[in-house]
Amino acid sequence: MNTRSLVHIIESVPTSDGAGVKLRRSLGSQPGMRVDPFLMLDEFYSDNPDDYISGFPSHPHRGFETVTYMLDGHMRHEDHLGNRGNLGPGDVQWMTAARGIIHSEMPQQSAGRMRGFQLWLNLPSKEKMKPAHYRDIPVSEIPLIELPRGGEVKVIAGTLNLEGDATNGPINGSDNKISTDPLYLDVRLPPGAEFSAPITTGHNAFLYAYEGSARIGTAGAAKPLPHRTAGVLSDGDSVRVQAGAEGVRFLLLAARPIHEPVVQYGPFVMNTREEIEQALADYRGGRLAVAAGG
Ligand code: MN
Repeated sequence: MNTRSLVHIIESVPTSDGAGVKLRRSLGSQPGMRVDPFLMLDEFYSDNPDDYISGFPSHPHRGFETVTYMLDGHMRHEDHLGNRGNLGPGDVQWMTAARGIIHSEMPQQSAGRMRGFQLWLNLPSKEKMKPAHYRDIPVSEIPLIELPRGGEVKVIAGTLNLEGDATNGPINGSDNKISTDPLYLDVRLPPGAEFSAPITTGHNAFLYAYEGSARIGTAGAAKPLPHRTAGVLSDGDSVRVQAGAEGVRFLLLAARPIHEPVVQYGPFVMNTREEIEQALADYRGGRLAVAAGG
């Protein structure tokens, strides 16, 4: 056992995006604050419709994947290909923008709580220009594992191996040919409870504590993961989390790093400046999301 330790913290900072949706951004809040292949993590959480009602009107993406995970509220998305979906509590949308997608993400409520996450996951250069693809995953397709000592885990992507039992999430690297082979878990632990899980050696990993706080690492050397921060892990084959006095809810993300240059301009993430200029030209010319040769 080579338990991973917490090597640094990325605090989340308040910001806004879309047409004025208030959110907290940890990964991606500053240039370079990424955990290859993860580019950005936004948490949105508000009971005030003024903070979310304007939504994310029509906008493009190219070169990566966006993963939206709703905890509360309803969001409707539509794209230029005619795809439509309604995300409700516990639902996930896994959108591989790749060559290009133009879509909107708009609240379907005028009151109440809107809460969830959007994660940006990079694609390797050879996959940045493949056709766009997306999948809506209802909460009923996401395995929920009750932990023997209290708490629970949702397996959104990847495979969780706990004491000999393997649970596959609906997004699985081998099935879906996602070459970064992501692991995406949502974990809830009661006060003081411990949770350990294997993580593939060599994959980059971080946690984001969205309720409460935790300590990360082996019992004698655990370090604090404060509320609403992302904790980046060292390499190793497992992670150990101990919930704080109020319990904790956290996301655990891990994936195979891409090790390529990242050049980002807003919603476009490519390898070179020339590719960004091409994306802008394609978007302005109405060619962003047209199939190659089409
Ligand atoms: Mn978007």
